[in-house]
Amino acid sequence: MGLKPIMPFGVSNRHNCKKSYFSCLHGFTLVELLVVISVIAMLLAIMLPAMNKARDTGKKIVCMSNQKQLIVGWINYSVQNDGKLVPGYTTRCIWGSVKTPPYEIKWDITSWHPEKSWVAVPRFEGTDSDGEPKFGNWAYRPGYQDRFIIAGLLFPYVQQTDVYRCPSSIVTGNPQTQNNFCSYAVSSIMNGYCQGKDPVPAGSEYGVRRKYIVTKMADIRTPGERLAMICQGGVAARNNRVECFSVNIGTTAWSDIPPTVHMGRTGTSMSYADGHTAYNKWNNSKKYSAPTFSPREAVTVEERKTDFAFLRYACWGIK
Ligand SMILES: [Zn+2]
Repeated sequence: MGLKPIMPFGVSNRHNCKKSYFSCLHGFTLVELLVVISVIAMLLAIMLPAMNKARDTGKKIVCMSNQKQLIVGWINYSVQNDGKLVPGYTTRCIWGSVKTPPYEIKWDITSWHPEKSWVAVPRFEGTDSDGEPKFGNWAYRPGYQDRFIIAGLLFPYVQQTDVYRCPSSIVTGNPQTQNNFCSYAVSSIMNGYCQGKDPVPAGSEYGVRRKYIVTKMADIRTPGERLAMICQGGVAARNNRVECFSVNIGTTAWSDIPPTVHMGRTGTSMSYADGHTAYNKWNNSKKYSAPTFSPREAVTVEERKTDFAFLRYACWGIK
């Protein structure tokens, strides 16, 4: 009696098969199939988080590369403009006379913010259910959103519209909610308020902030520690509106939500006035990413030592 051969799955010697090898093959039994399927499902379950993480890391790297290009352009703008910083706030644009591709837009210099800015935003038209200003449907036409970037003062220095968009903020579905024309915001301190018609009462939070605003590169103290741009992902793109990013100085309520764009909505990428980029993970990211979190919410004692302290120093240099 010799050794019994080891038979692979699907090959049976139970019936004392005397025929050729291939004639003895039978199909998979149900149990064998179930075992194979469950092993594949288990492997997928093990691999999925790793694959998601790899995809998130890839998007984060693209985002940081975008910011690197934008911040180099931002510095170049200053070099070519006598050290002046590109206006960081965003000025409205209105529809020009060409209403077919390539579409024409004009700066709305009659608005309260009459200076041209680093990117343009569509003019507010009415109010949405949150009481936030919204824009007319014309702003969402295919190919139209690029026009706001091309009109911006930074565009001659960074001439690819894709660079202004983070891959983590792309929203698909209803074209009217694809508010992804620009994912990044400039920090308020970086020439973030116009000096023209901006109606800021002296004692208000905005009045306090204004004392810290710098308009020239040479006036930035410790540029390696001052936030210049931040990826706000879908937050910046909300209602196609990009404004400066900021936290409050005079009050202890949040002003802008700490953006939770990357790595499973735990943090975001930033760039600093010296040209370097960095990633920051928030302590309370779960709270900030919840749809119920309000930017007007009070800052907790813990946040005053962690996320709020970090942002207040990064934005304003105040500890
Ligand atoms: Zn990003």
